[in-house]
This record gives sequence, C-alpha cells and structure tokens, in this order.
Amino acid sequence: MKVMKFGGTSVGKPERMHHIAGLVSNESEPVIVVLSALSGTTNALVEIGDAIARGDRNGAKQSIDKLEAHYQAFIKDLVKNDTSLAKAKAIIAEHFEFLNIILKISFSEALSKDILAQGELLSTKLFCTYLEEQGKDHLLLPALEFMTIDHYDEPQIGSIKVKLTQLLQQHKGTKIFVTQGYICRNARGEVDNLKRGGSDYSASLIAAAINASVCEIWTDIDGMHNNDPRVVKKTVPIEQMSFDEAAELAYFGAKILHPASIWPAQTYKIPVRLLNTMEPKAKGTLITEEAGSVGVKAVAAKDNIIAIRIKSSRMLLAYGFLRKIFEVFEKYRTPIDMITTSEVAVTLTIDSDLHLNDILKELEPFGTTEVDKNQVIISVVGNEISQTEDIIKKLFGSIVNIPVRMVSYGGSPHNISLLTDAGHKVQILQQLNKGMFGLE
Ligand code: ADP
Ligand code: ASP
Ligand code: MG
Repeated sequence: MKVMKFGGTSVGKPERMHHIAGLVSNESEPVIVVLSALSGTTNALVEIGDAIARGDRNGAKQSIDKLEAHYQAFIKDLVKNDTSLAKAKAIIAEHFEFLNIILKISFSEALSKDILAQGELLSTKLFCTYLEEQGKDHLLLPALEFMTIDHYDEPQIGSIKVKLTQLLQQHKGTKIFVTQGYICRNARGEVDNLKRGGSDYSASLIAAAINASVCEIWTDIDGMHNNDPRVVKKTVPIEQMSFDEAAELAYFGAKILHPASIWPAQTYKIPVRLLNTMEPKAKGTLITEEAGSVGVKAVAAKDNIIAIRIKSSRMLLAYGFLRKIFEVFEKYRTPIDMITTSEVAVTLTIDSDLHLNDILKELEPFGTTEVDKNQVIISVVGNEISQTEDIIKKLFGSIVNIPVRMVSYGGSPHNISLLTDAGHKVQILQQLNKGMFGLE
C-alpha cells in the first residue's frame, strides 16, 4: 500500500482534481490519498477566523460568501451529471452553513480550529463525489477518527497505527482510500491541526503507521530544488537526498516540506518521493537513508528569527550555566535553532516571539540580554559537507559583502548555518546560488 499526498495547487482547479483522480486510479497497489484544502482556502479560513476574533462579523460574512461562491463555481466544472452536482451542492451547503452558524456564537480558540478544518473536509468530500461519478471504487477515511495529537501537540503514532489498521481491515478489497491532511483531534478530543503546511506531516505519519511502500508528496514543482525558487531565478531539482538532509532543509525553510514531515518516514524507513502533479513523468526527488552523493545539495532560508544575546562576565563558562539558560527555553517549550558561545556571552536564536517577554524576564538573573528581531537563518545543506573541500572558502567567498551575525558549523555533518539580517536574505540566496552551484 502506498500514500499519495496532493497539495493545495494539485487540487485547486476542477481539471487538476480530474487529473489526480486519473493518477490515483492507475496504481497497481492500494493507495491512501491524502488531500490538502484547495489552494487559497486555508488562507481564507484564517482570515475568517481572525475577523470573527476581532468582532468584525461583517468582514467575516463577506469572506465566507466569497469563499462559498468560489466553491459553487468549482463544482460546476468538477462534476457533470445532476445527481453528482446535487451531492456536491449539499456538501458545500453543509460546510458553509456551519461557518455561518459560527458567526453567531461566541468565539473561542477551539472554534477557530473548527473553522480551519473546513478546507480539507470540503476538498476530500468533493473529490470523492467526483470519484463516485466516475464509478471508481473508493472510501473516505475521516482523519478525525484516527489522527490524534497529545497534550504537547505531538502526534500519537502508536494509536494512529492501531486505529488506522482497524479501519483499513474493515475495507480490505478497497483500492482507493481518501483522507484529509492537516486536521486531527487533540488531547481534549477537539478538532485541531498539524500547523500550516501540515498535510505533508499527515502523509508521512500515515505512511509510517501503515508501513507504506512509499510516501509520495505531489506538488507544483518537480522535487526539492537546490535553492528557493520563489527567490532565485535559476534553480535545479535534486535527484536524491537522505532523510537527514531533507529534514534539515524542511526545518530550515524549504517550504516544499512541512518542518516535521520527515521524522515519521525516517523512523519507519519509508522512502519519500517528491513529485510534480503537473509533470508526473519528471523524476522528482527520492528521499531515503542514502544520500546518493557527497557535497552541498541545497540552501534554504528560515524567516522571522529572533536572536537573543546573554552577556555575563561572571559566570558564563561556569558549568551549569548553559543548563540554567536552556531550562528557561524548555519551560516555555520554545526550541532553540542556533547557538554560539564566547567567554563573556552566549547568543541563541528562536523562531517564535510567543513567550519572548517571559523568557527575557527569566533570563534577567543570568546577565544582560539583547534582542534582535527580523533575522534570517541561511542553511547550506548536503552530505558530509563539513568535510567537503574548500566549502568554507566557497561559502564565505561568495558572500564577502554581506555582514554575518552568527555561524554554526559542525553541529551536524549535513548543515552549515548563518544568521543575518532579514534584509540580506534575497541577496545572500542569489549570491550563494552563483558561488556554490554556479547558477545565475
Ligand atoms: P503544496 O501546496 O503542494 O503543499 P507548497 O506551496 O507547500 O505546496 O510547496 C511547494 C512550493 O515550495 C513550491 O511551489 C516552491 O515555491 C516552494 N519551495 C521553497 N523552497 C523550495 C525548494 N528548495 N525546492 C522546491 N520548492 C521549494
Ligand atoms: N491546508 C493547509 C495549509 O494550507 C495544510 C496544507 O496545505 O498542507 O496550511
Ligand atoms: Mg505544503
């Protein structure tokens, strides 16, 4: 059994849904199809939730109506016969009625998650309506029946495995299973999600849970590229990389993969393939335990980084000092991305300001703190790159004109990271493209 995940643009137009219906029914083994919401939907739902939260019910109503009109137009080209159209209309009516009811009741965090879930619920039900019209045997597996997270928002892989296996065993002959990416239930039993871009994570978790032959992530580009194609003109796809390399790239900003989407596949040794829905014959990127080659493969940028410097001449390098600092971040469940130390100061970076004020307050006894917001981490990723000849010369040689605030080298053999002001991001990615990959 394999997993095939299709992102927002892959389901965003009726003809794309037709196309992916063709792709999933051509498979020789049974498939679990994981779908995102149609492109633009989750952004619209975020907007609706925000408008309701700030009491702007008119604004929210307008956004709901606009989104509904989009779906009404979508289904006209999705299905042909009247029965299917009536079914599709009923699906839209059900979900938009729900959004309109939410407008009338008092807002809560839990309700905002319910709003966000509507996108994946709609896309999967509409896709199934089309499969039904085409006479293709299939089954909708509701993600809310098996995808769960614990009190710390961590997926419960053990129970996902048990529940999913039971569901699949009840429908042994079925070839096409369809389920929602992104959405899940939390420890309180409420509807929740795996954070933006989380359908990749759902796919990897499902692949791990069922011990899939492969986890295919179908998107709008032919695999992981050597640089961010949204920023740099000439980029090229990478044929093969290791789980470690892919995890570094996903975590450090390569948007094609959700930051946490690699570990389930890696832990359960499921190969991951990144493929292009618009160009299904293109090779894409294969991600396995094997890196395939040595040397630098790609660079990525992680935005919205905050650097915190803690300066203390008295006790910095005394043992136990770093532990006390780390405990503050642990208390607020805030991961540290980069760290450098000197005799009198330690600087570290975080990617969320959610608990920044509390963290700074608790750091006060350890020395003076300085905070720099609007930073960006640039990561150079590859296999054994720290041992690659001339790497440092090439790396710094290509960005001599750009001030670098921090460097992390040797933490992993697959990554060298730099911290710089966000304003330098575009220039640094472009110059690295030329200096490290010879691409302009
Ligand atoms: P989906 O909706 O299918 O999940 P995403 O928009 O989340 O798709 O991810 C695909 C996009 O990721 C591409 O269109 C591309 O612009 C962006 N991207 C950023 N960095 C990279 C990279 N290194 N390689 C490939 N794509 C990247
Ligand atoms: N629809 C969700 C989002 O836009 C999840 C996903 O597409 O992966 O973030
Ligand atoms: Mg995505």
